[in-house]
Amino acid sequence: MQKAKVHGRDNFNFYEPSINELLVEQMNLDSSMHHALDNGEFSIYYQPQMDTRTQEIIGCEALLRWNHPELGMIGPNEFIPISEANGLITLIGRWVLYTACMQNKLWQDSGFKPIFVSVNLSPAQLIQENFIDMVSEILEETKLLPEYLELEITESVAVKNYDYITGILEKLKKMGIRIALDDFGTGYSSLNYLKNFAITTLKIDRSFIHDINENPKNSAIVSSILAMGRNLKLCITAEGIETKEQYETLRDRGCDIMQGFYFSKPLPLHEFEKLMKKPGD
Ligand code: C2E
Ligand code: MG
Ligand code: MG
Repeated sequence: MQKAKVHGRDNFNFYEPSINELLVEQMNLDSSMHHALDNGEFSIYYQPQMDTRTQEIIGCEALLRWNHPELGMIGPNEFIPISEANGLITLIGRWVLYTACMQNKLWQDSGFKPIFVSVNLSPAQLIQENFIDMVSEILEETKLLPEYLELEITESVAVKNYDYITGILEKLKKMGIRIALDDFGTGYSSLNYLKNFAITTLKIDRSFIHDINENPKNSAIVSSILAMGRNLKLCITAEGIETKEQYETLRDRGCDIMQGFYFSKPLPLHEFEKLMKKPGD
């Protein structure tokens, strides 16, 4: 019934056992999620973001993982939507933000070259009451300077509460935090967002990158996004760089930051630390 409803009223769908299995799995995830934070089942993987000019790690993206006691490691695409539906996203999101900021400050204190950490936000977090206060408290508690934190939002945040979100982003930027518009080009891509949102970074979605050397349309779109970003004085990050050719193409076109399997997959903490540099390395 739910699957039919997605396609509008007066629709139907044949019963498929796989749908049932999916629902059972989602219900299991929902109920087991309630204890997952307390049980320490969540962890953060870190994926490096490379400065194209210096070819050094300039930042990293914090990507959430759930090590489920029965199902093993689960990716965020599977459980973030459930956490948004059951409301746990605000608690989980706070944990991610706190842990990523604390970890970044720990790296700085142990002598690694300072980098920024990018944390993904769900729309529900941004409209949560006292979100700005929560971010300020976390920065104060962890003693991380705001310039070393980037918050990633997607265009979907603005479907509702456009004016409210515009105000929140303005305040975050004034605090000195970087704001990235993630998956750029896949959502509404309204130029009004670029005009009115206080963003500092555009992340070009990997669907435009994966065939940039074979698909003249994607190639042209990426060049246009780069030109637009430059004119708007935004930092441009390309996501999903998987090959040397893609890296070279984007480097030659002046993309500022690159992220993707070509440099490294998202890594657990200790493996990521092996990639990081200390001054003099
Ligand atoms: P995203 O923010 O666009 O993150 C990038 C995703 O692309 C990550 O998937 C990463 O593993 C993957 N990726 C990176 N480089 C490459 C590449 O070269 N090739 C390919 N094929 N993929 C690449 P992941 O970790 O599964 O995360 C999926 C999405 O889940 C993220 O997309 C983000 O929207 C969401 N997410 C992750 N962590 C959090 C979180 O803490 N909070 C919230 N609200 N969402 C999160
Ligand atoms: Mg992201
Ligand atoms: Mg993305």
